[in-house]
Amino acid sequence: MTATYSQPAVYFFGQGRADGTAAMKDVLGGKGAGLAEMTNLGIPVPPGFTISSTLCHTYLETKEFPPWLRVQVETSLQRLEAATGRHFGGAKDPLLVSVRSGAALSMPGMMDTILNLGLNDTTVKGLEAQSKNPHFAYDSYRRFVQMYGSVVFDLPKPPFERLLEERRQARGVPREIDLPAEDLRALVRDFKTHIQRERGRPFPEDPMEQLWGAIAAVFESWNTRRAIDYRRLHNIPDAMGTAVNVMTMVFGNLGEDSGTGVAFSRDPSTGAKVLYGEFLLNAQGEDVVSGTRDVEPIQRLKEIMPQVHQELERMARTLERHFRDVQDMEFTIERGKLYMLQCRRGQRTGHAAVRTAVEMVGEELISEEEAVARIPPNDLNQLLHPTIDSKAHLDLLTTGLPASPGAASGAVVFDADVAEQQGRKGEAVILVRRETSPEDFHGMVKARAILTARGGMTSHAAVVARGMGKPCVAGAQAIEVNESAKRFAVNGRQIKAGEWITVDGATGRVYAGQAALVSPVLSENFTRLMGWADRLRQLRVRVNADTPADAHRGRDFGAEGIGLCRTEHMFFEGDRLTAMREMILAQDADGRKRALAKLLPIQRSDFEAIFRAMEGYPVCIRLLDPPLHEFVPKEAKEIKELASALGQPVAKVKRVVDGLQEANPMLGLRGCRLGIVYPEITEMQARAIFEAACTVVARKGRVTPEVMVPLTATVVEFRRQAAVIRQVAEEVFRERQLTVPYLVGTMIELPRAALTADDLAREAQFFSFGTNDLTQTTWGLSRDDAGRFLPFYLDQGLLEDDPFQVLDQTGVGKLIQMGCELGRKARQDLKIGICGEHGGEPQAVMFCDRLGMNYVSCSPYRVPIARLAAAQAALAKRGTMDRTRATV
Ligand code: PEP
Ligand code: MG
Repeated sequence: MTATYSQPAVYFFGQGRADGTAAMKDVLGGKGAGLAEMTNLGIPVPPGFTISSTLCHTYLETKEFPPWLRVQVETSLQRLEAATGRHFGGAKDPLLVSVRSGAALSMPGMMDTILNLGLNDTTVKGLEAQSKNPHFAYDSYRRFVQMYGSVVFDLPKPPFERLLEERRQARGVPREIDLPAEDLRALVRDFKTHIQRERGRPFPEDPMEQLWGAIAAVFESWNTRRAIDYRRLHNIPDAMGTAVNVMTMVFGNLGEDSGTGVAFSRDPSTGAKVLYGEFLLNAQGEDVVSGTRDVEPIQRLKEIMPQVHQELERMARTLERHFRDVQDMEFTIERGKLYMLQCRRGQRTGHAAVRTAVEMVGEELISEEEAVARIPPNDLNQLLHPTIDSKAHLDLLTTGLPASPGAASGAVVFDADVAEQQGRKGEAVILVRRETSPEDFHGMVKARAILTARGGMTSHAAVVARGMGKPCVAGAQAIEVNESAKRFAVNGRQIKAGEWITVDGATGRVYAGQAALVSPVLSENFTRLMGWADRLRQLRVRVNADTPADAHRGRDFGAEGIGLCRTEHMFFEGDRLTAMREMILAQDADGRKRALAKLLPIQRSDFEAIFRAMEGYPVCIRLLDPPLHEFVPKEAKEIKELASALGQPVAKVKRVVDGLQEANPMLGLRGCRLGIVYPEITEMQARAIFEAACTVVARKGRVTPEVMVPLTATVVEFRRQAAVIRQVAEEVFRERQLTVPYLVGTMIELPRAALTADDLAREAQFFSFGTNDLTQTTWGLSRDDAGRFLPFYLDQGLLEDDPFQVLDQTGVGKLIQMGCELGRKARQDLKIGICGEHGGEPQAVMFCDRLGMNYVSCSPYRVPIARLAAAQAALAKRGTMDRTRATV
């Protein structure tokens, strides 16, 4: 994306009028669009201008600014001077500006900001004279040089902080803000010397040079590691680029009648309709978010400056009504006058998203459809998150701020890289930091929860964790983190790296050890929202459940049937496993039948309980699928135990076990091949299904069994298995003297099945796409081994997503589409669903809806997510999704 002179690249806002509007986010970025819209709404915004994000890549590619851009920026600066009555670089009346990033999609804290730009050894005197406040003037100056040093000169922050700390200690004052002006002046000198020494060039005194340096640095910050990581996680395209906002400074550090803060129009954690936020008196923006000073809750502002609080509340409501969504606002109070510096759509937890959407429908701000369209389905994860069992015995370590709800346990780590490495291996880790910074982002992504010692509800850790739906306790002040020694001290105790703790982000409590967690209780708001979603969707949602408990949970979450009951899961424990092993080790069909007879009553009673739990909704039961070696022991000791349990010689058992080994078991004797080689297994399973169904029907229950043949490659296989199933059904119905309607169908999980779906559909009454195996076989990518190199592929950008998590619509999707079309051509009323892990992935749900499938099926906790995604799919078909999505 490149810009040319013919396009305006710089957009002015100020004095009640702006060149841009909220609709121009693509050009102005979110911040610039918000500033323009607020200006147009008559909200007090300091005047300024936005340099279009289209210039970002032009700059990044050439590392130069086109001459025409320089002209447009200079013209805008002149307008700014006229609007403020000040002069950029003026010795008496200096105009100071902030330079900030702002992409079309919000990336909070990921890019750079510079405040107080325009100060130098001359203009600082003008500022001092004008404000009659030398402390303020030099405080602003030292902040500017410090920020400029780290952002534009790319110098690490700690040396600057150390210099500041040394001054504070030498002076013996409690806070930085208490340093006298002469110390601040000396600090400016120290910082400049540090910059010169480290970079071999002086700090620029010329304000124009300062400005261009800052603009370049903001564009460059688009490509920092943290910004790239953030974009990957949130699917933000690299091509988007950031805009640059240059805005007149208003000062929150002019004394105790000034301040700065951030506020949400509703509580971003719970969704409650109260002005929510934090502020600091006599401070500038970075003090609030960096956690270096303890912030005050916004309620305190009501006591200190009631009018300002009232005004802020009024602006919050105006913006909320205008944008019809929760607003996250940055403000500054300069000598009692309130200015808005930013407004954007407020990031919120899943809890808050649901409550806010439902309440806004009640307030007639949005429609039910908009409420449904607005909530990212995966956000529901947070409502479905576990909490700590109230009966658990807990060892409280400390309490911090409840920054992002949900509970998690894990081993303590202090380093983001370590959190990333261990998290990637599937280990449960909790990232503990004094405070997080954007450089920690990659570790936060992989941690189960985040705990910080400093910072408030709007600190970096809190904002980022809420965005990810990750439990977070922030600002646990009693904790002393020693990151280099890899331990933290709290109330006289020491917790070392690797020790387990439990974090409860809803209460802010932190416990030693691993606490028992319980499933969440769903709110009334959630139920209402899901009711609207259910009215909108066409796609049915089923659950993958192998046990009566899972079936009940699925029903509680709104599942309308079972899409996959993996019968093998019933064989893996206790007596069942022994009988299963006996069947595998039997020498002939008779021996197998004897062992299977032991399994029959067990299966039958499981099916009965599952049918009852589903109350007449369809239950799709898949016949035995995995390779038999999965059921037998591997260790010599266990083989010996099995031999003695079965009364067989150890050598014989070992021989059979060894004989079961296959080079490629996933492509070996498994799926319907088992039932074809050993039809007595299919007979037993079919008998268990139909006997259970008859028992339920005989007791006035309702059942709709669907018997599913796995891993079918040819119609001949299917025909052979279907014949066994149907014959058993007839036998059982004759014995029980009743008939139960049932279907026989197949999984489509091999490319050949998709390619010959018309043949299969002539015999099969339903299809269920097993996208786990279909992904494995389409990609030639082992489900069990992919973990060894997929992370590398993802890191290197060879793949955007793990195809086992996010359905590959381009490749695997093409086979699914073909399967659906061929299948329906051969059998119009063919029932089609999906039961691989992708059945609960929102994008895949939308895809399945587009193909006209009847249902998706997924694990219990994903059922609500699939219901919401299915409703959004229906809205998308009507073309209402984009219109109803929040605007800013
Ligand atoms: C599948 O392959 O997608 C499937 C659902 O079956 P399983 O995961 O049990 O192989
Ligand atoms: Mg499978």
